[in-house]
Amino acid sequence: MAKHIFVTGGVTSSLGKGILCASLAKLLQARGFKVTIQKFDPYINVDPGTLNPYEHGECYVTDDGAETDLDLGHYERFLNVPTSRANNVTTGSIYQTVINKERAGDYLGKTVQVIPHITDEIKRRMLLLGQSGNFDIVITELGGTVGDIESLPYVESVRQLRWELGRDNCLTIHLTLVPYLRAAHELKTKPTQHSVKELLSLGIQPDILVCRTEHPLNLDLRRKLAQFCNVETGSVIEAMDAETIYDVPLLFHKEKLDAAVISKLHLRDTKEPNLNSWKNFLGKLKNPLHEIKIGLIGKYNELPDAYKSIFESFIHAGAVNETRVKVLPVHAVDLEGDYEEVARRLEHLNGILVAPGFGERGIEGKIHAIRYARENNVPFFGICLGMQTACVEFARNVLGLEEASSTEVNPKTPHPIIDMMNDQKKITQKGGTMRLGAYACEVQKKTKAYSAYGSTLIQERHRHRWEFNNQYLEAFEKAGMHASGLNPDTGLVEIMEIKNHPWFVGVQFHPELKSTVENPHPLFVAFVKACIQ
Ligand code: GLN
Repeated sequence: MAKHIFVTGGVTSSLGKGILCASLAKLLQARGFKVTIQKFDPYINVDPGTLNPYEHGECYVTDDGAETDLDLGHYERFLNVPTSRANNVTTGSIYQTVINKERAGDYLGKTVQVIPHITDEIKRRMLLLGQSGNFDIVITELGGTVGDIESLPYVESVRQLRWELGRDNCLTIHLTLVPYLRAAHELKTKPTQHSVKELLSLGIQPDILVCRTEHPLNLDLRRKLAQFCNVETGSVIEAMDAETIYDVPLLFHKEKLDAAVISKLHLRDTKEPNLNSWKNFLGKLKNPLHEIKIGLIGKYNELPDAYKSIFESFIHAGAVNETRVKVLPVHAVDLEGDYEEVARRLEHLNGILVAPGFGERGIEGKIHAIRYARENNVPFFGICLGMQTACVEFARNVLGLEEASSTEVNPKTPHPIIDMMNDQKKITQKGGTMRLGAYACEVQKKTKAYSAYGSTLIQERHRHRWEFNNQYLEAFEKAGMHASGLNPDTGLVEIMEIKNHPWFVGVQFHPELKSTVENPHPLFVAFVKACIQ
């Protein structure tokens, strides 16, 4: 049976619960355990797919096509093990299951209530991955902050599971904040004490306290926290602000977090974690030989979380190339003016990436940026909407189809270079209905895509409704834009590239969702390399 670790958060949000979970999982994995992480989110949306990126950052898509919380991206980047639909649960999806069962008459006339029906469904989902036989340890991250009305059923479920699973099989970690008051020159423990009290009032005694802090916790402070919160002094773990999230596993190892977990869960004794390749990555990340600037042309630039996986992919690809990649967000709307001026604004960049997105805002600015990259031999990488826009730019400025567009932007265009597939046109419901998840792509030899992948058959993740319109493919090929990747079953265009250009590649899928520390994405690695030259 898998052992369970539950991670709750206190005092404020944004303390880095996702990174804590990913880092602890990494340490346990490096000791030889099979670990997975799941996230339980307290909101009513069935999944985050319908959320605006401003609300909740990027929507992370799994191989099996689930639209999930961006923390799953951290889990994959740290562990290099794919997650699935089962790794992200929301209150909405719990209620949906319970209500469907109620409508089917499964509750046999009983009154359906939060306790036990909602909590039973939560517990069932919490145990699901552990029952697969694939994992020794399951870490469950509870979204939100303890004390929120919305997370009460989750906390109650954890309370029940602690009894049902027993002490040796179940552990809770509480992440809190120990703020520094500059005027008093002091770290303050009171918020943590209150937060643990809150948790105690809900029936949960945390086994380990992880304290986010800007200054080191001395022994006195650790003792004080231990005494007031009923934990051992050795179970008060410092979580100092780190230079990069990828330092965090090593910092927690120094704090003996993994050792504390192993002893409390009575896991078989293991050797020290093997973190050699991780340290090697960090060494390269921190000692770059080159530096490049890449313009990230998008529309959610105020919020870096909206492009989380793209930023992280550049960190991985930069390390491989021993290059510091400075990703400079550029608002597409700001590039809509005079083309010559736009070109001047982009002059200092070594490469241009046009981001995924929805809707028409900023499209003309993206087209300007793409034209600039194409005409000036600046390495270009277009992802999803970025690839679609690159095709529209090519149609307009090379094929001379002035009114070419995507029907997403202009439904009446005479040249629908990017169009919706027929099966998409029938869809009326928004949630979970895009082309989602992993699809195969056949890569043609002697292309930039092939020299990056080194393979003719790949799988990449999708999240879109529109596709390249194959009626135009011949004209594109003749003019020098080549479909170097096609879906082998449907013939849909997956990768487009320009032959006479140092590096101009657009992809219909989302490579950023598959880049990990151990497996930096080949297209990002190749793009960064092209930008250095
Ligand atoms: N809006 C485009 C589509 O739905 C692109 C989506 C994306 O960039 N993820 O096809």
